[in-house]
Amino acid sequence: MDERSDEVLSRRARHQVARAARRRRARPLVVLAVFALGLVGVGAVAQARGLDLRQPDDLAALFRPRVMVEVDGRAFAVPRPAPASGRLHPAVPVTSAGSYAFLHTVDGAPVGYDPCRPVRYVVRPDGAPPGGQELVDEAVAEIEAATGLDFAYAGRTDEVPAVGRDLIQTRYGASQWAPVLIAWSTSDEMPGLAGDVAGIGGSAAVPGADGDGLWLAAGRLALDSEDLGRMLDAGYRGAARGVVLHELAHVVGLDHVDDPAELMYPTTSARVDLGPGDLAGLALVGQVACEQ
Ligand SMILES: [Zn+2]
Repeated sequence: MDERSDEVLSRRARHQVARAARRRRARPLVVLAVFALGLVGVGAVAQARGLDLRQPDDLAALFRPRVMVEVDGRAFAVPRPAPASGRLHPAVPVTSAGSYAFLHTVDGAPVGYDPCRPVRYVVRPDGAPPGGQELVDEAVAEIEAATGLDFAYAGRTDEVPAVGRDLIQTRYGASQWAPVLIAWSTSDEMPGLAGDVAGIGGSAAVPGADGDGLWLAAGRLALDSEDLGRMLDAGYRGAARGVVLHELAHVVGLDHVDDPAELMYPTTSARVDLGPGDLAGLALVGQVACEQ
């Protein structure tokens, strides 16, 4: 099991739009496989967890092992996903061929967001350059279409972006993974954005509530408002949009490829939109199994 959460940095060269990247190790997600419940005090625990003992499913759930995660020294039960009856949008077929790679894999298969639940995201708009929010809206729509995932806007936030972001936060509810955070930022706030780094994007790979499977959660996308603002001012809107799209592709699980025909190439290329391999990879991360 890959217990790391990867951050990917994207860079812009001084005189031309350029991206290079490096992966940064964030705070590890410590997975402690424990049996959270014993026979003593089951009633009180059931009440605290909002379970109804008259429901056989809930009764069974009480005695199922729960996986705990440790976030900032506190232990949380891995959130149980909301009930779902299937994918929210049809799977996207792979219709193109090219280079792609995944940030997280299990036996070679990609780890992605659960396609049966919405990918909730919040935006911290502070400091957005003029036209910046439109870039985000367009990138979200394009990634949705390419993956078959359902992105659901969950409002504004004032959460300060951090590489070691807490995966569960009481501000969003302690019984669910934090939503994807999209924030405009600066190197003063996020040192990782120093120099020509224009954005940082990634997600955590987390276990399912019963310890089976791995999905992405609690992604974060920090965009350098100064770098992207300058690009927009200079008329490089397509390239600025490409940066946001590239970073959001990291959030949903794509890694870099050594192929300048793809947007996931780590440095400048003529490509500012999704290439054939990018599209194939995004279709595949959107085809992962749902958590039951
Ligand atoms: Zn990158």
